[in-house]
Amino acid sequence: MLLAGIPLLFAASLLLLWPQDEVQAMRYYRNQGTVFGTYYNIRYEASEDLEAGIMARLREVDTTLSMFNPFSVVSRINRGEEVTVTPLFETVYREAIAVSEMSYGAFDITVAPLVNYWGFGITPNGEHLTDSREVDSIRQFVGYQLTDLHEGHLYRFDERVQLDLSAIAKGFACDRVADYLKQHCGNYLVDIGGEIVAEGVNQWGKPWTVGVTKPVDDADNLSQELQDTIRTTHISMATSGNYRRFYYEGTEKRSHTIDPRNGYPVQHNLLSATVVAESCMKADALATACMVLGPQGALELIQRAGAKAYLIIGTPDGMQVITSENWDN
Ligand code: ADP
Ligand code: MG
Repeated sequence: MLLAGIPLLFAASLLLLWPQDEVQAMRYYRNQGTVFGTYYNIRYEASEDLEAGIMARLREVDTTLSMFNPFSVVSRINRGEEVTVTPLFETVYREAIAVSEMSYGAFDITVAPLVNYWGFGITPNGEHLTDSREVDSIRQFVGYQLTDLHEGHLYRFDERVQLDLSAIAKGFACDRVADYLKQHCGNYLVDIGGEIVAEGVNQWGKPWTVGVTKPVDDADNLSQELQDTIRTTHISMATSGNYRRFYYEGTEKRSHTIDPRNGYPVQHNLLSATVVAESCMKADALATACMVLGPQGALELIQRAGAKAYLIIGTPDGMQVITSENWDN
């Protein structure tokens, strides 16, 4: 009788010794704030708040890719400092070059001096009238072929070459946060400035709902209007548009997407491009490339890249949606 009670006693004492957080139930958490000059909104099901780990991933991306951080790898390269690049930098650089090649130069991370010339970017030139000779002279040192990465060193074949990874950094940050969350849980949604990675289901056990923003001119970034919604249990998606960062020079709209092939802000009727790809980093870069290429070139690029696209085009009476044939969301 006494002996039979021993296993019971043992089990009870084990329960008492068990660390509290090990028996905590899974629940949905939400972490939000600002990063890279935009917002982040991250939801996930876990047994504890993972914000510290998420912030560490975001900081890591910032210290690698942000032009607004003077100590980042990219800022140091741009200043001509001797830098051994990190594996993180190399991953993003290689993907950027792949999308440059795939888009025949529409996507180009050496576009920074042109971005500045047109009044965007980190050191925007003050107001000035457009001078085509000046644009042409800047174009001499814009071109991804003027860089190479070899054994941890980023070579610039002209010291005026400046890198701008803004059009791929947010997507990469989503991938990094998602990789981290994947180690702890199966249900999460990462949204960084509208670039999205979603996996599994929401707190009601239903697929996540993600929105395609309506591309209405919205320099104050206030509009939340959606053009469409997608229900998904697995997606990496990014959107580019010329409805948030732009200004007018006379009647000409100057947008923050620059065509590196002629040096000018893009001007066509493609209002926004939403791209789904195997990684958010790739989707992000492809979305900007689509904005440069315009509707037809965008569809061709998306097919070559094995991705999917949802394009919103401005028409005299409003907007029209065209999608790649494989768009099934
Ligand atoms: P969007 O939401 O429109 O994609 P991003 O910030 O992701 O906005 O990308 C736009 C930024 O990318 C610009 O502000 C500029 O710094 C940079 N950029 C502009 N044109 C190009 C281009 N052709 N290729 C790569 N980067 C570009
Ligand atoms: Mg982008």
